[in-house]
Amino acid sequence: MTEATAVSAAAPAAVATVAGVAVDTRHWIGGERVGSADTFADVSPVDGTVIARIARGTAADARAAVAAAREAFPGWAATPPAERARILHAVADGVEKRLADLAIVETTDNGALLRSHLRGVMPRVAHNMRFFADWLTDRLDHGDFDTRGHNNHVSWDPAGPCVLITPWNAPLMLATWKIGPALAAGNTVVLKPAEWTPLTASLFADIAAEAGLPAGVFNVVQGYGEEVGAALVEDPDVRRISFTGSVPTARAIGAAAAANLTPTSFELGGKSPLLVFADADLDLAADLAVEQYDNAGQVCLAATRILVEESVAEEFTTRFVERAAALVQGDPRDEATDIGPNIHADHLARVDGFVRRAVDSGARVVVGGGPNTELGGLYYRPTLLADVAHDAEIVQEEVFGPVLTLQTFADEEEAVALANDTRFGLAATVATGDRERADRVTARLVAGTVWVNCFFVRDLQAPFGGSRQSGVGREGGTWSFDFYCDVKNTVTSPNGWH
Ligand code: NAD
Repeated sequence: MTEATAVSAAAPAAVATVAGVAVDTRHWIGGERVGSADTFADVSPVDGTVIARIARGTAADARAAVAAAREAFPGWAATPPAERARILHAVADGVEKRLADLAIVETTDNGALLRSHLRGVMPRVAHNMRFFADWLTDRLDHGDFDTRGHNNHVSWDPAGPCVLITPWNAPLMLATWKIGPALAAGNTVVLKPAEWTPLTASLFADIAAEAGLPAGVFNVVQGYGEEVGAALVEDPDVRRISFTGSVPTARAIGAAAAANLTPTSFELGGKSPLLVFADADLDLAADLAVEQYDNAGQVCLAATRILVEESVAEEFTTRFVERAAALVQGDPRDEATDIGPNIHADHLARVDGFVRRAVDSGARVVVGGGPNTELGGLYYRPTLLADVAHDAEIVQEEVFGPVLTLQTFADEEEAVALANDTRFGLAATVATGDRERADRVTARLVAGTVWVNCFFVRDLQAPFGGSRQSGVGREGGTWSFDFYCDVKNTVTSPNGWH
């Protein structure tokens, strides 16, 4: 490398200071910081300022990262599982030590509530690492079994370099659902975070290196999906691709992966229903409904379609409106704030486009209905639309903003039919006071997760994923290891021994 190229590679401010925290804006490849000649702006949704200029990864960066992961693989795969687990716990310790830094940087980068990051999300990042490390060492055992005197032994062998591609709505939390099991199992990783939220992945690389993760075991490449992301998923040396994001991107990744028959795991979008039956505790149901505005509606699991039994629709709506009116919208760094900004001006325009088209075709605005002009910027009022046709775009397409629809149903049959009638199948929530009804309805719902009289209770040992176009495969507990590993059965004869 000539001096000139070295300077141009590292020149555009290798380290940015974001909310007082130093964040390296370059890739992390093979245990080294590597710049790209070009950079892109990272804009904070909190106030619209450019907070960093990030290395814009190229196909060459993608190849270098996969090569580093490939080179590091034999050593990490051969590291005893207990030693791998020890290092992953040290990574979790490092996350806990830097929790405040991670929380404020994530809030500045994606606009989600600081109090959630401090008390919920970042502690879960550490937990994700610990959980999968422990699951591998303590729980991952199918148990040997006998076939006509022959012993069957199932093992989960590391597969090789894994490419992990993640979205912006819960950047580090979602990434560590993948990083945890992939690394625990002895694989190496190349993470490509979303271009709108690149920062905490970089901090995580620092933490992992300090915790003793060997060079090349964990790599981060920054940049646009169509550029560096596309190059990563085409690489024939990649053994697994795990993707969380939108359906159109999953199609592109699936097509690229097909060329090499690389196994893929997809966690995609949703249009999940909340079914409120007349026998439900309506206060609880209204609480659950308002909870769907969490993270400004930018939650894949959000129950954005509220389906209410006709006889209680008015009463439910009254209670919902009271609660929605009490929500505090504002700066996500304030303790009192319930709803922060949306992620990006393009995204806000998209959300508003859905609402405008729905209103133009006859939807009635019950609450909200547009950007919060008092706050300006990227703040969108929590919105509920009624009088919507079931086949309308607003009912069928994922908005990914603080926008809910309200429909009514006459009976259980219609409730289930409406709930299941979208191309998605990520989650569903049922509010009812009748256990038998709960059993009947949950058995018929098409969804990877169904909650009854609750929402967002998530245990890492449970399967998580979507049916239909909400995803392919499941994450969590052993399901994660089934994906990230080459599962092997060894059959040993009782005969032939000396
Ligand atoms: P997106 O599909 O636009 O981008 C996700 C990631 O894919 C980003 O890192 C992006 O750079 C990358 N990418 C884009 N094009 C690519 C390509 N051609 N090749 C490789 N990588 C590419 O999604 P988003 O807007 O970041 O996220 C929102 C979506 O994610 C919503 O649909 C939401 O429901 C979904 N989501 C799902 C879950 C889940 O667990 N099911 C969780 C969170 C978000």
